[in-house]
Amino acid sequence: MKRVFNFAAGPSMLPLPVLERAAREMTDVDGSGQSVMEMSHRSKEYKVIIERAEALLRELMGIPDSYGVLFLQGGGTAQFAMVPINLAYQREGQARRKVTYVDTGVWASKAAEEAAKYAEVRIAASSKDRAYSYIPAAPAPAPDDAYYHITFNNTIVGTKWPSIPDTGSVPLVSDISSCILSERLDVSRFGLLYAGAQKNLGPAGVTVVILRKDLIQKVPDWVPIMFRYDIQAENGSMYNTPPCYGIYIIKLVLEWMKDQGGLAVVEARNREKAALLYDYLDNSSFFRAPVEKGSRSLMNVPFVIRGEGGKELEDRFVKEAAAAGLVNLAGHRLVGGMRASIYNAMPIEGVRALIDFMKKFEGANGR
Ligand SMILES: *Cc1c(COP(=O)(O)O)cnc(C)c1O
Repeated sequence: MKRVFNFAAGPSMLPLPVLERAAREMTDVDGSGQSVMEMSHRSKEYKVIIERAEALLRELMGIPDSYGVLFLQGGGTAQFAMVPINLAYQREGQARRKVTYVDTGVWASKAAEEAAKYAEVRIAASSKDRAYSYIPAAPAPAPDDAYYHITFNNTIVGTKWPSIPDTGSVPLVSDISSCILSERLDVSRFGLLYAGAQKNLGPAGVTVVILRKDLIQKVPDWVPIMFRYDIQAENGSMYNTPPCYGIYIIKLVLEWMKDQGGLAVVEARNREKAALLYDYLDNSSFFRAPVEKGSRSLMNVPFVIRGEGGKELEDRFVKEAAAAGLVNLAGHRLVGGMRASIYNAMPIEGVRALIDFMKKFEGANGR
């Protein structure tokens, strides 16, 4: 077996023990004589799986009982619409409600654009002026805001909010698709959190939503049934068939995290991995990390080659790294350069191997 170190931003690496266990259980899970893929989502065997996934998520993230957990479909992108539809709804004849967004990158601005179809969007701050290389100060919400939206970790540009902004009584909503379970997070500071699973949690096809139960309200009749938090919550994420296999893989990932020692241990490892890479970049005269120090992501680390002719060298870097078993290091097509996504499942050996390769590349091509 030959496994590569996969630095993709998503879908991304899963822990090897999870994949091996899924393989062992592929045709017969827990003595049921069935694969999870073949199982009725209403069966007692499946009920154990989905309940265990939720319980582990609650335990690892410290989710209070006053919050609901939903396993939905449609990715982070569906939440860009579901959030305003459910939290900023207007009945016929009522004025559109106000909501505030902070624009910290592509995903944040896509979320705001989608919300503008359903609510009155105010962009309170943006870091577009400097290519989204920092997190701006968060202006106060308007008192009549239905919610305040931030993108906690910006996957494409590699920034992360250094702290949770204080929005007072206005519910804070955050996209945590690329940082869920990467470090401890005080869930009680948020009204709603959402994350597509394919970055740090499991396979594409499942989206986790964590929301304060008192924010769940009735929505207008025009809202598609699958887009209603109230219906999804009343039915335990099983109004229709949920993404059963994906939820099962999430359960295995969470069990793996617990075996590792839980979130604090995983966070410490993530900090160590990111520090190794940023330290190397900050001390290099060949490579450079473009994100401001106070705004750097633990999960997505972009870097470029300094000086003239960098682009050509970058293409070569990505190609030669792939040949050495370090794959998917090209930056997002919108920003170029390189990006190493080092999610929970990336072992520290992968980061060390990347740095060794960078040193060699610099030695061969340094100017
Ligand atoms: C990947 C990503 C998305 C989009 O996720 P989909 O599940 O593909 O819709 C949204 N927000 C952030 C922060 C992301 O990293």
